[in-house]
Amino acid sequence: MEMYDVIIIGGGPAGLSAGLYASRAALKTVILERGMPGGQAATTDRIDNYPGFPEGIPGPDLMMKMDEQSRRFGTEIKFTEVLSVNQKPDGNFEIKTYDGDFTARSVIIATGARSKPLEVPGENEFMGRGVSYCATCDGAFFQGKTVAVVGGGDSAIQEGIFLTKFAEKVYVIHRRNELRATKVLQEKAMAHPRIEFILDSVVTGVLGKDHVEAVKIRNLRTNEEKAVAVDGVFVYIGKEPSTELFRGFVEIDERGYIITDEKMQTSRRGVFAAGDVRQTPLRQVVTAVADGAVAAVSAEQYIEHESSE
Ligand code: NAP
Repeated sequence: MEMYDVIIIGGGPAGLSAGLYASRAALKTVILERGMPGGQAATTDRIDNYPGFPEGIPGPDLMMKMDEQSRRFGTEIKFTEVLSVNQKPDGNFEIKTYDGDFTARSVIIATGARSKPLEVPGENEFMGRGVSYCATCDGAFFQGKTVAVVGGGDSAIQEGIFLTKFAEKVYVIHRRNELRATKVLQEKAMAHPRIEFILDSVVTGVLGKDHVEAVKIRNLRTNEEKAVAVDGVFVYIGKEPSTELFRGFVEIDERGYIITDEKMQTSRRGVFAAGDVRQTPLRQVVTAVADGAVAAVSAEQYIEHESSE
């Protein structure tokens, strides 16, 4: 079993940044990633608020650069799914994956968050057949078609605007009559001739035969229900943290986020958490990379301290 100084679980912005800082500190570092590197940021059409790119940058491009930079200093990236994490009596951590076991002196959890489902009839049935959680991945399938975006936050509005590149009509369905998204995005979406808002409404079902043909919506003020014809539904109603593996291993808050101190230290010494997976007031690429850097430096200090004991 190969021994690492730092094992980073998750290869999004937080994980890649932790990898960069850990490998530059000459720590033997591996990132375990179950999908593609870059996490949610790699599924974002355009990132306009990451400093250093005044024109904005496509999410996949930014994440490819982070991946390249992290590997340049020696971070290994292995594509596998983590099954369990345990601490052995000698204090080291054992990580079981589909592709074998790993041992490490410290662990950085950077598993991020994933899209929250609508949990309505038809959603699972039509997943990949009109129901999507990623406009960047699936938007091009809706050339000249009509789509619905569910949600009123930054993701829903940003991705709704992106979808107008392909779709002839984009409905934004939001449960209140005020959007949560930042003003600049709201103004852009409201001025767009092909975006129509359906407010005070929730989706109660996804309808169709082989593919999505309509969404059933209920107006929360009038209780009126109706079907709106669409070819696709993009769900952007927020995120939930990917922390199932760590329940009972580190302290987690009531919403499922990992609790850390300002050094990214979790309730278990030697285990750090960074990025969207942790309890934090802001979840952005810029905060995730900062967390990753802090977590790596803390892991380095922890290893040094343990070695000197
Ligand atoms: P979010 O800000 O939590 O917004 C979720 C939206 O979905 C809210 O409008 C919420 O309605 C609605 N919603 C939640 N549960 C629902 C349900 N069961 N049924 C119907 N609607 C529901 O999530 P997000 O947009 O994914 O953004 C997550 C984080 O990433 C935020 O911090 C955001 O600022 C950040 N982000 C930033 C950018 C950017 O800066 N350009 C882009 C994308 C994401 P209510 O408003 O009524 O609660």
